[in-house]
Amino acid sequence: MAKKLWNVAIAGATGAVGNQMIECLEERNFPIGKIKFLASERSIGKVLEYKGKPVQVELLDHDAFEGIDIALFSAGGGRSLEFCPSAARSGAVCIDNSSAWRMDPDVPLVVPEVNPHAIAGYTKKGIIANPNCSTIQMVVALKPLHDYATIKRLVVSTYQAVSGTGKKAIDELRVQTGEMLNGRPVEAKVYPHRIAFNCLPQIDSFEPNGYTKEEMKMVNETVKIMESPIRVTATTVRVPVFFGHSESLNIETEKKITVAKAFELLKNAPGCKLVDDVAKGVYPMPIDAAGQDLTFVGRIREDESIDNGLNLWVVADNIRKGAATNAVQIAEILIRDHLKG
Ligand code: NAP
Repeated sequence: MAKKLWNVAIAGATGAVGNQMIECLEERNFPIGKIKFLASERSIGKVLEYKGKPVQVELLDHDAFEGIDIALFSAGGGRSLEFCPSAARSGAVCIDNSSAWRMDPDVPLVVPEVNPHAIAGYTKKGIIANPNCSTIQMVVALKPLHDYATIKRLVVSTYQAVSGTGKKAIDELRVQTGEMLNGRPVEAKVYPHRIAFNCLPQIDSFEPNGYTKEEMKMVNETVKIMESPIRVTATTVRVPVFFGHSESLNIETEKKITVAKAFELLKNAPGCKLVDDVAKGVYPMPIDAAGQDLTFVGRIREDESIDNGLNLWVVADNIRKGAATNAVQIAEILIRDHLKG
């Protein structure tokens, strides 16, 4: 029997994540029948390519999903709230990269290495949510440790690349860096302060509790994906790096994890790459993780300030594993195990 081909739409195809989704579908040879690229009025008439063939960008509207099997959304939360329900009504399964649906109890929030079984819940609303980029890489590294020793508490501090804010922010860091090196004044448009040669301890807006929305996403999404009441506290920081988020994790577990045990658990863990040989100056860095799909884990050491504590340094490409790759991996499981071929 001929292998079924699937009609796929990418809403937000012209953006940083959308562009990467196109590349991921190509690289992973996703069995595509028809592909549709959708964006705002600004992009109508633009031509992108899929596997060397030109594809015209069309308007994201309510009628855009007729005949589509899978709709990958990365056009911002407002668009996801507005258009995922109509895409689902048209019969498409939506895989949404925005934060719009993540905490909806009827929408699974999925990282394939951690909770692939949750995908089955897509039937309730026709939507599957992709977690926040910082959360995805963190739970990939935590899953094998949690399965072994049960994480009770987690302290995370992030060092997040500007690509996490989209294409305008990538331009802002590039332009500001050039202006600074030439001794010219810089203007901050995307971020509240200059990002070049600076660190901003603010990602997204502040909540009444003093945390940012990004920090609370890490707190709440981790519990939903890990299906465990882990107590999480987060500080999220934007740094002048183009691609690749880094994270310092301090975990407290019920059972002790020695460094040797952590090495053993992480060495063959799905989606992880152990990069830890400090004697040789080897540890995860964004320059190595950028362009890769794995989550790099290193600097593993016992937290000597508590009984059962472990510290780790985790790095991944936020646009790939933090967004596009994770969404395409979900789509792969969906067509393999859930949709009728
Ligand atoms: P981006 O580079 O700014 O791209 C935004 C995309 O959305 C563009 O294709 C844009 O189309 C489209 N869009 C904006 N307004 C629209 C409208 N009114 N109607 C239709 N399309 C519209 O942003 P991004 O970084 O790719 O992020 C996209 C989404 O993914 C966001 O929800 C973000 O939170 C999420 N996400 C991003 C990352 C990351 O690391 N960057 C990670 C996880 C999740 P035009 O080109 O026509 O304006």
